[in-house]
Amino acid sequence: MITQNLHKIKTQIPSHVELIAVSKKIEIDKILEAYKYGQKHFGENYVQELLLKQNTLPKDIFWHFIGHLQSNKVKYIVPFIHLIHGVDNLNLLIEINKSAKKNNRIINCLLQIYIAKEETKFGFNAQECLNLFTSKELQRLKNVNICGVMGMASQTDNVEQVEQEFKQLKDVFESIKRCIENPTPFNIISMGMSQDFDLAIKQGSNMLRVGSLIFGNRK
Ligand SMILES: *Cc1c(COP(=O)(O)O)cnc(C)c1O
Repeated sequence: MITQNLHKIKTQIPSHVELIAVSKKIEIDKILEAYKYGQKHFGENYVQELLLKQNTLPKDIFWHFIGHLQSNKVKYIVPFIHLIHGVDNLNLLIEINKSAKKNNRIINCLLQIYIAKEETKFGFNAQECLNLFTSKELQRLKNVNICGVMGMASQTDNVEQVEQEFKQLKDVFESIKRCIENPTPFNIISMGMSQDFDLAIKQGSNMLRVGSLIFGNRK
């Protein structure tokens, strides 16, 4: 089933779009099934769960942290994490930098941008983000590499609203890209989940985070 699901999704996304299989709350054997099909990028939301899976599963998996990351948990994932999607405040970035330095790594991060009209979603707004890039603060953080943005649209059937929110994220991405003086690769737009990935691709996404469409509904 998982293999068929993956195959079906792959036929619907262009080759420049990276598919992250969101495996939170999914058992090891199911993740292995996706892995054997050739899926190498997986996304997790909870540190404890991620550590367990990283320890058990093949070491050539690229792990993405897509949840809300607390500063005091950063040190556990920094030794192996491939990309942290949900960086939503400067203190967290400073913490990641500190831990990365200790591990002699440079950690790829995406800034989470607040695009949904819902109250509960974390993230920077557009202006805060631009301020961050024009400040000197970022340049001091040599062990983090901010390579793009991430966002979540509202959970709604209103297609126009979702499109509008994705477009907003794309616009923030473009404004940041324009104000980066020395363009290190800043090229990732992580948006689109099971229910809205097609809309996200149309609005310029190049990284999808898809869970239930691959693994079925979570408990
Ligand atoms: C759970 C989750 C997803 C995947 O959601 P699905 O609807 O199962 O595709 C994507 N992004 C984030 C941030 C998530 O927490």
